[in-house]
Amino acid sequence: MEEKTSVKTVVILGATGSIGTQTVNVIKQLKDYKIVGISFGSNREVAREIISEMNVAYYVSNVELEIGTKLADTEELLKRTTPDIVVSAIPGFEGVKATLTALKYTKRLALATKEALVCAGPFVKALAKERNVEIIPIDSEHSAIFQLYEPHIERILITASGGAVRDIPMEKIGDLTPPDILKHPTWNMGGRITVDSATMVNKFFEVVEAHELFDLPYEKIDVRLNRSSFIHGIVFLKDGVIKIHAGKPDMRIPIAYALTYPERRYESYVAKVEEFDLSLQDVDRERYPLFTYALELAKDNDYLSWRIALNASDEIAVKSFLDGRIRFKDIEEIVRKTVEAVLDMNISVDKIEDVYEIDEMARKIAKNFLKNT
Ligand code: NDP
Ligand code: MG
Repeated sequence: MEEKTSVKTVVILGATGSIGTQTVNVIKQLKDYKIVGISFGSNREVAREIISEMNVAYYVSNVELEIGTKLADTEELLKRTTPDIVVSAIPGFEGVKATLTALKYTKRLALATKEALVCAGPFVKALAKERNVEIIPIDSEHSAIFQLYEPHIERILITASGGAVRDIPMEKIGDLTPPDILKHPTWNMGGRITVDSATMVNKFFEVVEAHELFDLPYEKIDVRLNRSSFIHGIVFLKDGVIKIHAGKPDMRIPIAYALTYPERRYESYVAKVEEFDLSLQDVDRERYPLFTYALELAKDNDYLSWRIALNASDEIAVKSFLDGRIRFKDIEEIVRKTVEAVLDMNISVDKIEDVYEIDEMARKIAKNFLKNT
């Protein structure tokens, strides 16, 4: 007897972006997945295409479309559709809020928005546990570790590409312009994460993401450069075995895995041995001062308030840089000053409302520093 396959329903939050459109692409191949709703900011053209091509019933956005039914907000979208899977792919603090809402209405969170774990990790995990929601990471390094994971772990390693600045002479980095920084060597991603790759704030976020997802202390999470981005993650087991996860840098692969887990159903390009570059290099700590600073801080201060401040101020500084208002090197100063100001306040984060409050406060502080830059 042939097994009946049931169609899985999916809502994509941030559907018109890099992760969002690649998710649509994957679903076209997987077939028995149905996109029942999307949210996006203002990219009408791409949204229209997704809605008409995939026959999507509902959307949430700042703008109006002549197709599909517009709903008031993420909460209403998810309440109406209660999808099997939510793909969370809105960047920044908006993405944190959307992720927390998603946990109330689905059984699987396919998580791209790492900011949710950076700003609210313990709350996200507690809510997921309480409501029995699986969190499957989409971030390539975390998808790798998730696939290799077993309890007998000694330590893990995640890789970094080094972003657009990795081969630029040090004295020239500070004055690089947005077009220079947006030229990522191995991945094609949204604006914020591409700038965050150049400062390696993204990799710091990923260390925190791994710390939260796999419950490992910071000392057990190593970061090395792999220039080709073919190696995504390595797990070192206590019995001496080392497992390496490698493959072409293509986000559709981890997206598909998060949708189909525990099965593998997606078909993609399989790399040839000649394409492999498995060499790892140390991260040049001086080239990425913000990464170095944040990582040191995390080792001695494992609490949320400054992580929220780091995300908020980085979000503001990166936007100002992309708008041409500040230089690349100013990002570091604005972020550091904001983090230090919030650290000095010694605030504890006991409930989810505190996360929202600190985010708002950190934004005000960062904007003040921005004015004087
Ligand atoms: P993009 O900038 O490419 O896309 C962002 C998406 O979010 C767009 O659809 C945008 O809509 C939408 N959006 C923005 N604000 C809102 C809002 N208030 N409400 C609803 N939708 C909104 O980002 P990426 O896809 O690159 O990144 C998404 C997340 O995934 C980030 O957290 C990033 O760190 C993470 N990630 C991304 C990877 C990648 O390869 N891109 C890899 C690993 C993690 P619109 O454009 O229509 O305004
Ligand atoms: Mg990543």
